[in-house]
Amino acid sequence: MRLSSRKALSLTKRSLTPNKPYHAQWLLTRRCNYCCRDCNVWRQQDESELSTEEIKMGLDVLHKLGVIEIVLSGGNPLLREDIKEIIDYSSKYFITTVYDNGSMALEKIDALRNADFVAISLDTLNEKKNDYIKGVPGSWKKAMNAIETLHEEGIFVGVSPTISQLNLGEIVDFTRYFTSRGVPVWYCLYWYDYPSESRLFEIGKKQDDFEITDGKAMADVCDALMKMKKERQGVFITDKTLTALKQFFLKGQRIWKCGALQSFLMVDHQGQVSGCHVREPVTSIFELLDAWSSQEFGNLRKEFSKCDRCMYLCYIFYSLHANVLSNLEVLRDQWKNARTLLSKMRKN
Ligand code: SF4
Ligand code: SF4
Repeated sequence: MRLSSRKALSLTKRSLTPNKPYHAQWLLTRRCNYCCRDCNVWRQQDESELSTEEIKMGLDVLHKLGVIEIVLSGGNPLLREDIKEIIDYSSKYFITTVYDNGSMALEKIDALRNADFVAISLDTLNEKKNDYIKGVPGSWKKAMNAIETLHEEGIFVGVSPTISQLNLGEIVDFTRYFTSRGVPVWYCLYWYDYPSESRLFEIGKKQDDFEITDGKAMADVCDALMKMKKERQGVFITDKTLTALKQFFLKGQRIWKCGALQSFLMVDHQGQVSGCHVREPVTSIFELLDAWSSQEFGNLRKEFSKCDRCMYLCYIFYSLHANVLSNLEVLRDQWKNARTLLSKMRKN
């Protein structure tokens, strides 16, 4: 983990500059070594990927555009041979989070040392259930081992459960378990891609037993997490996001407008860009700087802001925290966590 004063200054400047896409997710690869039941990535794997140099050029573009935070995922991004070089380059400019399903973090531990955050996906403390969800026997043990070892090694590792009907009743205890061991938790929410002829990257698969059917229980989880945030560090979700989720699950109301291609964007393994993974590609990363201020993008932003076709939690968060004021709100909401993080970063 690194936070040079140059990076800190540059991040502050970018987060206070209006009308920028603050968040980007780069799906570096469409290869994966797991078979999660709620995911389509492994069902349609694709070997074609950008080269290391092309990715660095793309990261330069995102830097010029004003992005402050980047999530490197896939597929499993750790399957790339050059992942260390990519992380090292990315973390010079951006708050960089890297995802792993828990299977490769130990093998690639040296590649992860300069990431700001490493997110290990793990859905439950129930070994059998986790292995069922991931479709791979032994996945629970590997993820738990990776979390423990990375934490001991001083790498800023967090655990990332996908909340679904299968683990809804466990999320509060799950959060308590990890945060009491100094491991933060940040959340995904089960959702699936609507049918479409053309989309950037097919991910979420419809699975009846994953779909959240108990809205009241989900709202109770949101209340409990809000309460927990007051008592302890490591619950990485803002009150604003929890309030929005509660409103949606209790009343079916969306209190946010989608910020796709406005406050956030997605890049796929071939360098195609879209507002979100569910929408069609609209340009390439190498042409993004010119496209960003085009009339076409303006029209797309208007269209996306009215869209209500998904409930992927990252997009909700990016939409709710979409301007300069919201960046300050996130800092205030997560102040306890931010203080601890900063002191850890300075020590490293
Ligand atoms: S959810 Fe992630 S780890 Fe699981 S199959 Fe999909 S890309 Fe791989
Ligand atoms: S709501 Fe936004 S993120 Fe979701 S599908 Fe529509 S444009 Fe994409």
